[in-house]
Amino acid sequence: MINGKFVDAASGKTFPTLDPRTGEVIAHVAEGDAEDVNRAVSAARKAFDEGPWPKMTAYERSMVLLRFADLLEKHNDEIATLETWDNGKPFEQAAKIELPMIARLFRYYAGWADKIHGLTVPADGPYHIQTLHEPIGVAGQIIPWNFPLLMFAWKIGPALACGNTVVLKTAEQTPLSALYATKLLHEAGLPEGVVNVISGFGPTAGAALARHMDVDKLAFTGSTETGKVILELAAKSNLKPVTLELGGKSPFIVCEDADVDQAVELAHFALFFNQGQCCCSGSRTYVHESVYDEFLEKAKARALKRIVGDPFKKGIEQGPQIDNKQFEKILKYIRSGIESGATLETGGERLGSKGYYIQPTVFSNVKQDRCHDYIGP
Ligand code: ADP
Repeated sequence: MINGKFVDAASGKTFPTLDPRTGEVIAHVAEGDAEDVNRAVSAARKAFDEGPWPKMTAYERSMVLLRFADLLEKHNDEIATLETWDNGKPFEQAAKIELPMIARLFRYYAGWADKIHGLTVPADGPYHIQTLHEPIGVAGQIIPWNFPLLMFAWKIGPALACGNTVVLKTAEQTPLSALYATKLLHEAGLPEGVVNVISGFGPTAGAALARHMDVDKLAFTGSTETGKVILELAAKSNLKPVTLELGGKSPFIVCEDADVDQAVELAHFALFFNQGQCCCSGSRTYVHESVYDEFLEKAKARALKRIVGDPFKKGIEQGPQIDNKQFEKILKYIRSGIESGATLETGGERLGSKGYYIQPTVFSNVKQDRCHDYIGP
């Protein structure tokens, strides 16, 4: 989506986006590369330098975001369907939690548009000092696949509220919902060229955006490894400022006076929410020895009760992993847990024979120094 229009890639290439329930093709999407990034950045630059967007009053900008929030609500179930189809997350979660949250988020940022003030700074001497907050220009934004539309919203919401223009690259696993939403943004009155979306791969389209000389700011969410590459590309090009939101292997700590039932439920949620595909997943649980046995027994029972299956079905808590690569990676980590002597309490295998479903898995007797440093979004 460049300059308000869906266009083919300059190379004419496309790539398939897959349904994680089956591995089958949902659609073929234009495969953006450096030339398409050039076109999108030119459109964003023109929209910033000459277009109506930065010259609009902040009130008018906020009205575009508010109308967009209304359209998101109107098309809630269609977008949630795209999200579940492309990503595999439970439809109920996408439709009832994420989409309403995204509409609220745009209303929140719409509220900011006319409240971004500079300062008057008291000075010692006959000086008048004031600061002014201005849009930075063309923002390049690169997002992962775990919360495709929420990531899109977190990136473009603040950029637009401040009057910037945007070139956003979606993750290659999940190109669909952002394209649909960007069409709605234009229906809401966004001028052409203000938000341009490139579908494509990281080392090609993503890297072209990160090293582009005419991109004024870069925002990235994804793996730590790629974050390092992005910083390097920014440093080696025009030293654009970079914001990184990276992954980790977050600890969940249960103290001796904890309400064990509640702790089990929270630890379960912290790990398994969104199929475990969160930058802050609680994938290591530290439990005080005085409640360890009770906690373990209950955590195991809760994991066994977790409802895994087709994410479009009602009552499903967990759908498939995003793709074969992540599916294989998780199974490899499970095998390495067993090999390093941890006790597999439950799960550990794939579920069914089709798609990327994995049994909720719990280990005990895990050695601190054997915890693999998972790096992901
Ligand atoms: P994960 O697949 O674990 O989320 P990545 O960091 O590889 O982690 O992906 C997050 C985003 O970064 C995706 O949009 C991906 O296409 C992009 N990306 C991957 N490699 C690069 C790269 N070398 N340069 C720029 N973007 C990249």
